Amino acid sequence: MPTDMTRYPADWTLFSAYIRFTRARGQCECTGQCGLHRKGRSNTRCLEQHGHPAHFAKGKIILTTAHLCNCNPPCNNPNHVIAACQRCHLRIDAPGKAARRKLTYHPTSAPPQAAKSSANAISASFPQLPPQTPP
Ligand SMILES: [Zn+2]
Ligand SMILES: [Zn+2]
Ligand SMILES: [Zn+2]
Repeated sequence: MPTDMTRYPADWTLFSAYIRFTRARGQCECTGQCGLHRKGRSNTRCLEQHGHPAHFAKGKIILTTAHLCNCNPPCNNPNHVIAACQRCHLRIDAPGKAARRKLTYHPTSAPPQAAKSSANAISASFPQLPPQTPP
């Protein structure tokens, strides 16, 4: 892909506009980074175009600029970003978010906290009971 590094504006708004409308020409640049668009073994490019009705969702496509890198703060390196429709952008961002959810949410772990605290409440209401000792 021919790129002219000297002409990239530092400003993010202009950079983002350059990516989405000059480089991508208004079409989502995702070619499988989101996990979709697979056709057999090869990936095809997402069909969604800025301002057009979405193919795979409701409403109009609003292209965004999605980072594929982990640069912090987010970079404006054109090789690290793609123009992405809402759906692709969400899916590109999803793996990190899913991993964080995994760390904090354990739907299968039982028993819930309530059982523990009610057990504490029962023992608290019989404070005079001596500890059980074997005969
Ligand atoms: Zn980057
Ligand atoms: Zn897309
Ligand atoms: Zn995609």
